Amino acid sequence: MQCIVLFGIQGSGKGTQAKRLSEALGYSHINIGDLLRDHVARNTKLGHKVQDIISSGALVDDHVIFDLLESILHEHVDGIIFDGFPRTVAQADYLVHHFEVQEVLFLELSEEEAIKRISSRRVCPQCAANYNILTRKPRLEGVCDVCGTELEMRADDTPEAVHKRFEQFFEQTHQLIDYFEDLGMLYKVNASRSEQEIFADISKHLSNKGF
Ligand SMILES: [Zn+2]
Repeated sequence: MQCIVLFGIQGSGKGTQAKRLSEALGYSHINIGDLLRDHVARNTKLGHKVQDIISSGALVDDHVIFDLLESILHEHVDGIIFDGFPRTVAQADYLVHHFEVQEVLFLELSEEEAIKRISSRRVCPQCAANYNILTRKPRLEGVCDVCGTELEMRADDTPEAVHKRFEQFFEQTHQLIDYFEDLGMLYKVNASRSEQEIFADISKHLSNKGF
C-alpha cells in the first residue's frame, strides 16, 4: 500500500493540506486518532480493546496501532495520506516496513507564527462557531455572527499554552524528523505561507517526483 506521511504542529495547516492532497491524488485521508474513535463508536473488536485501554487510564500502545494499520492494509484504496502519524520511531519503522512510503512532508512553522495563528482564534461559547481575528473576522468585533454571543479565546490557545505545546511537539518529533531525514525521505515545507502557497509547493514537489 502506498502512502504519504504529513506532519506538522497545530496551526501549520496540516489537516487542510492532508485533505486537499487526498482529493488531488485520490488517496484516503487517515487520521489515526479519528480512526480509533470510529472503531470505538462502531463497537468493533478493536474498538472494544481501545475502550478497555482508555477506561483503565492507559495510553493506546503501538500494538493496537499496528493492528489498526494491519486492517488498513486490507482496504481497497489507491493510497493513503497519514495525517499526524507516525508519532514514534517504532511506529515509523513499522510503517516503512509494511507500507510503501512515497513521501514524508513536514510542515515547518516557527513558534512565533504558531503563536500568532493560534492566539488569534476565537470561539463562540454558545454555538461553538469558530473565528479568527486575522483571517476570519466576525462582522461585529468580538461578537458571534450566528447568535450574538461574546466570543472567547480557548484556554489552551494562549501564547503560554502554545509555547508549551510547541516544546512537547519538538520533543516528540525531532527523532522522527531525524529518522526520515536519514532515509532521505523528508521534504520540509515552509508552512508560514498561505494555504494556497503551501499546497502549490507540495504539488510541485510531488510532480517533480513523478506523481
Ligand atoms: Zn454563536
